[in-house]
Amino acid sequence: MSFLSRHIGPEADDLTTMLDAVGAESLDQLIDRAVPESIRMRESLELPEPLDEPEALSALRRIASRNTVMRQMIGQGYHDTVTPAAIRRNILENPGFYTSYTPYQPEISQGRLELLLTFQNAVIDLTGLEVANASLLDESSAVAEAVLMMRRANRRSKSMRVLVDSRSLPQTLAVLTGRTRAAGIELVLADLGDPDAAAQAISAGDFFGVVVAQIGADGDVTDPTAVIEAAHEAGALVSVSTDLLALTMLRSPGEMGADIAVGSAQRFGVPLFFGGPHAAFLASRKGTERSLPGRIVGVSTDSSGAPAYRLALQTREQHIRREKATSNICTAQALLAIVAAAYAVHHGPVALRALAGRLHGMAADLAAGLRARGVEVAREQFFDTVTFSVPGQADAVVAAAADRGYNLRRVDGDTVGVSFGEPHTDRDVVEVLTAVTEACGAAEGESGADGSAFELPEALLRTDEYLTHPVFHTHRSETSLMRWLRELSDKDLALDRTMIPLGSCTMKLNAAAEMEPISWPEFASIHPLAPEDQTRGWTELIEQLEGWLAEITGYAAVSVQPNAGSQGELAGLLAIRRYQVDRGEHQRKTILIPSSAHGTNAASAVLADLKVVVVATAQDGTIDQDDLRAKIDSVGDELAGIMVTYPSTHGVYDTDITQVCAAVHDAGGQVYVDGANLNALMGLARPGRFGGDVSHLNLHKTFCIPHGGGGPGVGPVAVAEHLVPYLPGNPATADLDERGAGFPVAQAPHGSAGVLPITWMYIAMTGAEGLTESSRTAVLGANYISRRLSDVFPTLYTGDGGLVAHECILDLRPMTKVSGVTAEDVCKRLVDFGFHAPTLAFPVAGTLMVEPTESEGIEELDRFIEAMRTIRAEMQEIVDGKVSLEDSVIRHAPHTAQVLTADEWDRSYSRSQAGYPVSGLRRVKYWPPVGRIDNAAGDRNLVCECPPIEAFDAAYTAAAGQEK
Ligand SMILES: *Cc1c(COP(=O)(O)O)cnc(C)c1O
Repeated sequence: MSFLSRHIGPEADDLTTMLDAVGAESLDQLIDRAVPESIRMRESLELPEPLDEPEALSALRRIASRNTVMRQMIGQGYHDTVTPAAIRRNILENPGFYTSYTPYQPEISQGRLELLLTFQNAVIDLTGLEVANASLLDESSAVAEAVLMMRRANRRSKSMRVLVDSRSLPQTLAVLTGRTRAAGIELVLADLGDPDAAAQAISAGDFFGVVVAQIGADGDVTDPTAVIEAAHEAGALVSVSTDLLALTMLRSPGEMGADIAVGSAQRFGVPLFFGGPHAAFLASRKGTERSLPGRIVGVSTDSSGAPAYRLALQTREQHIRREKATSNICTAQALLAIVAAAYAVHHGPVALRALAGRLHGMAADLAAGLRARGVEVAREQFFDTVTFSVPGQADAVVAAAADRGYNLRRVDGDTVGVSFGEPHTDRDVVEVLTAVTEACGAAEGESGADGSAFELPEALLRTDEYLTHPVFHTHRSETSLMRWLRELSDKDLALDRTMIPLGSCTMKLNAAAEMEPISWPEFASIHPLAPEDQTRGWTELIEQLEGWLAEITGYAAVSVQPNAGSQGELAGLLAIRRYQVDRGEHQRKTILIPSSAHGTNAASAVLADLKVVVVATAQDGTIDQDDLRAKIDSVGDELAGIMVTYPSTHGVYDTDITQVCAAVHDAGGQVYVDGANLNALMGLARPGRFGGDVSHLNLHKTFCIPHGGGGPGVGPVAVAEHLVPYLPGNPATADLDERGAGFPVAQAPHGSAGVLPITWMYIAMTGAEGLTESSRTAVLGANYISRRLSDVFPTLYTGDGGLVAHECILDLRPMTKVSGVTAEDVCKRLVDFGFHAPTLAFPVAGTLMVEPTESEGIEELDRFIEAMRTIRAEMQEIVDGKVSLEDSVIRHAPHTAQVLTADEWDRSYSRSQAGYPVSGLRRVKYWPPVGRIDNAAGDRNLVCECPPIEAFDAAYTAAAGQEK
């Protein structure tokens, strides 16, 4: 059996039933009617013949075998770590976690919310600050976010200058250069590890913010207290970049007076993954919550008064605020933050401190051994990284170490760095020393040299406690950890239990065969800065994949560097901007964005220093042509271009897309096609051929990378020929001053490379025909739901022939008007049926956008249709006056088992109507762990640390008492 037949839900007979329902004779006919002829591709995609599962896995094995697994000591923001098997198996390889969606529906997301809150808690404790977000995309872009946050938060300063430590990681400086240039901020570098240089730099310039590295790229640990004080005196805010593991030993940024702390949580159990995905963190002072980028998990209460978790400040979630957003971050690194949180729980503070001590001890022993051999050690104070001087012989040392299976860091021709990580042992210290001796003929020293000379001074060391919450002390045994993780995943609804019909998010199958290779050491254990001859497999995979994606989209070239859709947007807009500036069109700074666009579009435009002008939507949901023309005229030669989503966020193939593109091109603008909806286009039409100059795709939507509860993502940017020179540059190698063409947008050259094998497997196993079939079936599924619900919940927008694309917007507003039941009520009631809600209120308030994807079989589609029809009947009872809205089963949804099994029952509806509204549920029933959550209370009183366990016990007891 081909893989495709398992990827696609409906079987041949079902297709007939579905086609009947939508009134089409065949899939061909349906697609001919739905997709406008003007954009239709008639040739087939040129992709390799599809492989079956074993063939694809062995082809990928061959590619993986071209990578060389070494003991990785390069450091530079990526540290060798051990992913505890219990965490790998129970989280990373557990569909209950990795197939879940962003926790916008908190009642069915309590498990992952608790883990994300635990992540925030660990970050808050270790950094000594008061609030933290639930992950950012990578350390370098997180530093950029910190800089922008300082600019927003510093009301006392009007300066547009930021002072940054030249000891920062090179890739951070590279990303910062591009991001600050785009934002009109002047970046000044100085060695902030040197007190005199720091004092001089601070007094010489008027800065709104300062970024200090607590640990420099060379590994040197300094005390930034004086820098922080001086900066504060000069009216600047201060961000400290730091390392979570080192903070178990070192004084925290909070204690030293920093306003913001930022860094990567990778070494908390997340594999190197050739650069990503890894969770970055950002913590700050109380009172800054509203200017924090990314998501924050907070605590509120549910309908019975019990504590419950939710995304705090959700309506203000940054990208939703469009051009007023604090950042464009939408998809972040939830799954990796969850792994890091579980790692902190697994180890607890004592073991983490012991690990940090062991790494420092090995580094100190290495330094002592080098010194005993007459090798000059560059820094006296370090945590886990030793940099040393071997004039003219760095290459020889690195080569000798490589012969022994070690990757060291070649700083320059005279300098080498060594970073220790969790898997390393004393034996590795000896081996590295031997390699140095061999390569530069240094004197034979004692092995086992004593590193006590390199003890860190007391003043740098931390004395306060951290990770004191019981969660970091409770799950020491694997039995306990396993059960806790099981308990948490049981609380959540993920794709392993229900269709997640989220319009615009394309929650399709993440097949096991696609997932497996990401854990292969030949992929997972490769350092992103490893020498080229060790990473040929990665290069082959990435080049192949970029080529396939270029073919699928019809563009000239693709870069997989952006690690989320939002970052693909930024990269694409920066490409447009650089291209136009190079043509002398500096004034082209206005971008048109339809009112229905995804929030990230406008937020990204602002980060690319573009002004947003909104284009109206016509009655039928298409772009208002008159308004478009008027806006093009009024913007004149300031037009940079337009950002359109195709098919539109209204779920329709607009027939006039080619005119829209032509009108913008005629006015000298570029066309950005947001490709998040590519699931309606694969093999049917190509944005690069019907008018787009640049697009981003979301591999975590269309191309099977799981959503991970809110990340990881990959948002490749695809461009036409004239924009190829402006694709994101390599943050590791490009010369800072030369960088002007393609600014890097992520810290690793290939972004979240670690999850690319998933997409590679999907395309390898489906091929041209399979991708086309995926799109065709997705379109059929959406039309089936639209048609079968049209008498109860009409579809808001349809294209020619009354057809939608791969998703449909169900208009609940007429029923809301007469019943008072809101679209949100319906989302909550769907939980009682065991369903994850569709997309709520986007792009049109009061509606639900449903996207079934090709992976859902007809039984599941029918189950959803039955649920929606049942809820419609319940709404009718309110309309007919049989029950009041306040007393209705819908308003009280979702129902917990605790509520339904309470000894007293005084509701207007029966317990079985609440809990088992349709017979199919008797087979298997999902019980939400909490009732409806109070959103307003959670924002009024923001708590973003784990509440004490007793708070839950007390509330549960009280709630149980109330029910009696
Ligand atoms: C999901 C989505 C985005 C943003 O992608 P992220 O990976 O979440 O940053 C942008 N545009 C559209 C239409 C989307 O659906």
